[in-house]
Amino acid sequence: MRVWIDQDECSGVGVCVQDCPQVFVLGSDGLAYVTVGGRMYASNEHAIVDDAFLDSVLDAVEGCPEECIYIDTA
Ligand code: SF4
Repeated sequence: MRVWIDQDECSGVGVCVQDCPQVFVLGSDGLAYVTVGGRMYASNEHAIVDDAFLDSVLDAVEGCPEECIYIDTA
């Protein structure tokens, strides 16, 4: 699956990091990023994330107060 965050909308509350710390991290700028293999992905990059994390990523999508986490399972 592909996962990305629109950092322009992120408020940095960190719900996503709580729901799925394997996929989401807070950067030094206080905003959330998708991370895979130690790399942090910016807004315009779609990270390829292991489908094993689908349920917790969906929890993050649903819990995000800004609705700025996007997922494409196609
Ligand atoms: S839950 Fe949404 S608003 Fe909160 S840090 Fe994560 S992406 Fe940003």
